[in-house]
Amino acid sequence: MLSIDLSGKRALVAGVSDDAGFGFAIAKALAEAGASVCLGSWPPALGIFTKLLERGKIEESLRLADGRRLEFERIYPLDAAFDTMAEVPAEILENKRYREQGDFTIQGLTDRLRQDFGERGLDLVVHSLANAPEVRSPLVDTSRQGYLAAVSVSAYSNIALVRSLAPLMREGGAFLSLTYMAGERVIPGYGGGMSSAKAALEADTRTLAFEAGRRWGVRVNAISAGPWASRAATAIGFIQMMITYTSANSPLPRAIEATDVGSTAAFLLSPLARAITGSVVYVDNGYHAMGMAVPEGA
Ligand code: NAD
Repeated sequence: MLSIDLSGKRALVAGVSDDAGFGFAIAKALAEAGASVCLGSWPPALGIFTKLLERGKIEESLRLADGRRLEFERIYPLDAAFDTMAEVPAEILENKRYREQGDFTIQGLTDRLRQDFGERGLDLVVHSLANAPEVRSPLVDTSRQGYLAAVSVSAYSNIALVRSLAPLMREGGAFLSLTYMAGERVIPGYGGGMSSAKAALEADTRTLAFEAGRRWGVRVNAISAGPWASRAATAIGFIQMMITYTSANSPLPRAIEATDVGSTAAFLLSPLARAITGSVVYVDNGYHAMGMAVPEGA
């Protein structure tokens, strides 16, 4: 029987701070397939996430299909806006949610992974994070600072993760990020430079696949997911409308589930996908293929 087998592999999923987003669903799918999973969690949300775990508030979500409990091998603080501590402004260093976390930058994450698991202790990396301070502003009204912040956190961070973590990877290493169709087509209201960040993330997936493939032998792919009411998507303000619209106008007229993204991620990160790199794979019930809204009753 052909099955996704990730036993003996170690994954880092960056961008998990509750059980409602794609990162959590991917972490769970990777664990279902036998991988051990570490998380990178944004310091402002890390405390709440740790409390959810400690107080047993998400036990149901942590249950795996075979009855085991999903245990995270490590949960590292990570602010993907920073490559090294030298770049972190004083007000963040002094912030109570950051103060006690040690080095929460991409360099810090890399050092901790090396310390905990050695020079070659990693196999899979998932970038499941995005942020745009001005996401509710149309692109045309977005400030330079807001635009650059969106692209820095949501797209550049993926480049930095590949550069820092690929050297720690064993043979068969693979990266995956999460994108959205707003990088290719207009989604009114998906503002603040997030559409630009997704366009960059997708273009970078191709270039990184080439460069990191040649340099380290790793694969780099992205999933373009349909709309899902995660915490981040809810912050954009009209996620339910997006779900209803795309469900009504997709070849498969239903909403996607986070588990759809989780299982595709497990496949793309597995040896079964060893010849797939530089790809953006749609997990959207086929919505991307449509060129016109479906007339009512059709
Ligand atoms: P989510 O809220 O579960 O995930 C976003 C995560 O990013 C959060 O855990 C948040 O703490 C983290 N984050 C924000 N700023 C950060 C920073 N500076 N450093 C580190 N982490 C930071 O929401 P989600 O919708 O599951 O998002 C995951 C990915 O999926 C994102 O890239 C998002 O754009 C993408 N995506 C989402 C949808 C959707 O409809 N939900 C559709 C397509 C793609």
